[in-house]
Parts: sequence; C-alpha cells; structure tokens
Amino acid sequence: MYSVKIKDIEKEEGKVLTQHFNFEIKELSANVDSSLTFKSLGEFIEVTGHVNGEINLECDICLEPYVQKLDFDIDETYAKTTLYGEYGNEVELRNGQFVTDLNGADEIDVYDLLYQSVILSLPNKKVCGINCSEGLFITDEEYQPADERLEIFKNVELKDNQSK
Ligand SMILES: [Zn+2]
Repeated sequence: MYSVKIKDIEKEEGKVLTQHFNFEIKELSANVDSSLTFKSLGEFIEVTGHVNGEINLECDICLEPYVQKLDFDIDETYAKTTLYGEYGNEVELRNGQFVTDLNGADEIDVYDLLYQSVILSLPNKKVCGINCSEGLFITDEEYQPADERLEIFKNVELKDNQSK
C-alpha cells in the first residue's frame, strides 16, 4: 500500500527518489507526515528523511490518554540481496547502523519502516505531562520504606565485616 519500488528509485536521475508520505498507522493510533529520500547504492538502498506527526498514547502513571508529537529522523539501509541470512533480518554494519535484509523483495515497505521507527522513537516511560512527572516523584518517595530496609542490610553487612 505505502511502498516504493526499487526499479522506480533506480530509473530516477542519480538513482535518488524523494517521496512524500502522509498516512495513519492504525495499529499505533498515529499519524505520520514524512518526506523520504531513497537512494540506490547498488546492492544497498539508503532511506533518509524526517518524520513529523502525532501519536495517541496512554500515560503510564495516570492512565489517561494523551497526544504526543512525533519528530525524528529516519536513516535506514536495506540490502537488496540476502548477504547475512544466517544472522537474521537485521545486521549491524557499524556502530548504530543497521542493515535490513529485503530478502529479494522488489520494494521498500514504507508503512512498516515508519511503523517500526515510530515505536523506536517512543520513550520507555510514557508520561502525559510535567504535572504527572511530579506525581512520579511522589510515587518514588512512597518507595522509601523499601530503601530503608536496604540501608539496614548494608549496615548489617558492614558490622559483619568489621567484626572479622
Ligand atoms: Zn499522566
């Protein structure tokens, strides 16, 4: 549905194709708006660009729904032919640079690329706002008794060491 054929990239002058995408990722309740540049490097296809958009999330603390802005870069490399079959579909080429194996497919699945990229761009802890961050801080303080118990264990250990 939202994909770019490799032959369409390669028939462009310089084998570079820039295309604009604006669609909904239903599974994530997200809207993405992106201009992506596809560049054929022979055996590899490099995809770069920027993504803007919005995603509907649920706050991890208060469980209320909220909207978070999406604003991140895309930098992906695809291998046309299976080069690293035994290592699975994704191989690290150099620090932080992964190559996705197209497994002989003749097109880049842009929907899947943006779907995966949106997931990777999300913070581990989803918090609706600053007020809710303050709530998190109070929650941390409520864990204090557990910390105090740990302190006691540390003291016991220390005394044991000293008596030896
Ligand atoms: Zn919240």
